[in-house]
Amino acid sequence: MAQQLECQTCGAAINIENQFIRSVTCQFCGASYLVTGEDGLNKRGDAAKLADYPSRLNVGQTGVIRGRKFSVLGRVRYAYDEGFWEEWQISWEDGQPPSWLEEDEGYWTLYKRERIRGALADYSDVRVGAKIKVNNYELFVTERRKAKMMGSEGQFSSVIPVTGEFGYVQGTANGQAASITYWPDEIEIELGDDLEHHEIKLDS
Ligand SMILES: [Zn+2]
Repeated sequence: MAQQLECQTCGAAINIENQFIRSVTCQFCGASYLVTGEDGLNKRGDAAKLADYPSRLNVGQTGVIRGRKFSVLGRVRYAYDEGFWEEWQISWEDGQPPSWLEEDEGYWTLYKRERIRGALADYSDVRVGAKIKVNNYELFVTERRKAKMMGSEGQFSSVIPVTGEFGYVQGTANGQAASITYWPDEIEIELGDDLEHHEIKLDS
C-alpha cells in the first residue's frame, strides 16, 4: 500500500510506491532520504538536481517491457572518467521487486538483482580480461571502473550513495550481461538482458 509522506525540506508530497522502496530523492528540491518503515523519511543529504537530459523515459512514464507492465519510479545519473550513463528504476505492476533499466548511449539493459551466495572477489582484485567466480558461475570481466552519482530523482529499492566514488565491474556470464557494484556498505550482483529499442513500449 502506498505510504504518504512529506518532504521535510520543501513540503512536497512523497508517496512511497511500494514496500521495496529504501531511498527517495525529492523531485522538487533534491533532498535525499532513507525510507524508515513506519516513521517515514530520514534525511541524509541533498542529491544534485538532474538537468533535463533527453531520454525516451522520465519518472512517472508507464509502458510494457516483454509483456510486463511497468512504471518508472526513479532516475539516477552516474559518471565515470569517460562519460555518463543513466539507471532507471522500474516498478512492475505484477508486484515483483523493482528492476534497474540501464541506458548507455542508446543501449538498454534490464537488470535483475541476484542474491549473493558465497565469497566474492574484492574490487581491488578484479582484472579486466580475467574470470571471477560469482555464485555458481564465472563472470568474464570486460570493464572495471570507479564512478560517482551525479544526480537522482524519485524512488529506489537500493540505497544509492549520495556522495563519493564506488567501484563497479561489468562483464558477461552465461551469455548475459553481468554487473557487480561495490557500494560503500554492500555489494550488489545483477544479471541483465539487452533490450532492443522496440521491446520497450511506452504508453502515450
Ligand atoms: Zn523537497
